[in-house]
Amino acid sequence: MSRAFRSGLIVLVALGLGCRGNRPQPDAAATSTHDVDRAAMDTSGAPGDDFFRYANGTWLKKTEIPPDRASVGVWSTLFDLAQKRTYDLFEQLSTTTAAAGSEEQKIGDYYATFMDDEAIEKAGLDPLRADLAAIAALHSTRDLSSWIGKELRADVDPLNMTNFHTDRLFGVWITQDLNEPSRSVPYLLQGGLGLPDRDYYLDTSDRMESLRAAYRAHIVKVLMLAKIDKAGDKAAAIFDLERRIAMTHTTRTDSVDVHKADNPWKIDDFAAKAPGVDWVALLGGARLDRAPVIIVWHPSAITGIAALVPKVPMSVWRDYLTFHEIDRYEGLLPKAFADEGFAFYGKILSGTPQQQDRWKRGVNATNGALPWPVAKIYVQKYFPATAKAQLETMVATIVKAFDKRLDALTWMSPQTKTAAKAKLASLKVGIGYPDAWRDYSRLTIVRGDAIGNDRRAELFDYEYHLAQLSSKPDRSEWWLSPQIVNAVNLPIQNALNFPAAILEPPFYDPMASAAARYGAIGAIIGHEISHSFDDQGSQFDASGRLRNWWTPEDLAHFKGASAKLVAQFNWYMPFPDLHENGQLTLSENIADVAGLSACYDAYHATGGTDDRTFFLSFAQSWRSKEREQVARQQVIGDGHALDEYRADTVRNLDGWYGPFDVKAGQRLYLAPADRVQVW
Ligand SMILES: [Zn+2]
Repeated sequence: MSRAFRSGLIVLVALGLGCRGNRPQPDAAATSTHDVDRAAMDTSGAPGDDFFRYANGTWLKKTEIPPDRASVGVWSTLFDLAQKRTYDLFEQLSTTTAAAGSEEQKIGDYYATFMDDEAIEKAGLDPLRADLAAIAALHSTRDLSSWIGKELRADVDPLNMTNFHTDRLFGVWITQDLNEPSRSVPYLLQGGLGLPDRDYYLDTSDRMESLRAAYRAHIVKVLMLAKIDKAGDKAAAIFDLERRIAMTHTTRTDSVDVHKADNPWKIDDFAAKAPGVDWVALLGGARLDRAPVIIVWHPSAITGIAALVPKVPMSVWRDYLTFHEIDRYEGLLPKAFADEGFAFYGKILSGTPQQQDRWKRGVNATNGALPWPVAKIYVQKYFPATAKAQLETMVATIVKAFDKRLDALTWMSPQTKTAAKAKLASLKVGIGYPDAWRDYSRLTIVRGDAIGNDRRAELFDYEYHLAQLSSKPDRSEWWLSPQIVNAVNLPIQNALNFPAAILEPPFYDPMASAAARYGAIGAIIGHEISHSFDDQGSQFDASGRLRNWWTPEDLAHFKGASAKLVAQFNWYMPFPDLHENGQLTLSENIADVAGLSACYDAYHATGGTDDRTFFLSFAQSWRSKEREQVARQQVIGDGHALDEYRADTVRNLDGWYGPFDVKAGQRLYLAPADRVQVW
């Protein structure tokens, strides 16, 4: 279940877009307005044939994707704004002297160190020497298990951010227990691949075959750059080990099925259920050995990977760990390494022709390592209390509209309805930034130690999460930092996060008409609320427990409606050889339909009647263009359909047909019985 609003896969991009609507504001002297961008539309075709192009066609024709990015669109405008603001902040902090140990010092020194490419060049591989020597000294299963355990980090998040990928052998996530809301537990996920997904190793198409060849060549180049002998032979063995790991991996579609993931193992169960690894050493190394249970998200992969440990020669494991240790930190190593990392992961895998400027990479790295200290300064500067208050009112209106829709459902039994309403009533909506800030006083950032800083930040984050194992779960915890352009539903916490950086024009513009605001940020808010009731979210009760609160009849109706939506999305063909995966994107698509419906009602509840602006504003909020490689990557492995088809969600709402004169026979026309109304 993909709960983040938009794919994290798309690398967002710069393009300055102004609001060029033509509806004058009643009290504004300014000529610029804040509604639909008429100049972006292409009204030569019928909206009922292609609504996305009707709303965005001229923009699509005129817009080029900048060479250093994989996509461009509304999201990239906001991304650039947040990037520019954090850049200004980092530049300023890196050239001023702040008190040692203060958050300002940490931010400034982290960024300055990243930007000092001369020092990084001079250091070469030295910052990794100690770790590489430790890997070279691994000789027994116990050594190997202990090292793998010590290197685990809280680097995946299968439910909130739907991030399943880690190149470490396993991924760890720590949050409230699926079955016991009073405690937090670790979750263990499959990992160990350099490529994004098992399909990249196992799919027999020519395209995947050539990506595999390029990845093998990348492994050779990295080993050669590190002056490791027999690079060719070693790379072949490393790739083969990854291929065998991939064969044990669960598919992405199965990974999002939380019932398949709900496997609480006691610490003592691991040796019998997944022989091959020294689990005492591994879980001890990871400091997870005192947890009452570990929820094993991918049991067959955990068992399969563990079984590979004694089957694969120790020398291959050492080479594999050596390669990933270097590959993981390529961006913080000398130029030859960073360029090679970009040549493969950026150019070949994502189709981005040009590497980002160093300052942009520095901004990303600093935000990644110190998300919360940066956020604290960011929101003080850029997110006024008036915006928070206004948006909280909008949220309340949409929650109320959703509640009314629940009341009006004719197919749902009173008992299911009561549980749904209870869940909605206790939903915790976070606007802009969290109530409390994380304490970073124990993290040390040293000017001049790029890799050390990064490793300490990763470890600090892991230890923060480890500490949660001994405290009560916190429903107000945030999973997206406020300077990130995205939004997320947290099913176990029954909570939402709307970071400050997404609460900006054109999504949220205090000057825009209600129709434009509800069509854009309103739909995003509705989408996130609806995730609590999508195919996966509806399996969690108000306390975040994984529990069926549905009568069998209600569930059957819900699944029937879902099946129609699966078929609707399977029908879209972004490429002649590739269709959208309706099952993989179901949660997101349900959230889009239900969210748009609820916010349409909410807009009408405020007295609004301008449905054309509402729907056009919605379709323009999906304005984007991406490179073919990255679009394919998203269709294959991401829980979100492509933006174009998300804009076409409108075809499920009766209210869309009249204002745009949509008729039977047009491509997007759905007969009333085929329009999906889940909630
Ligand atoms: Zn979503």
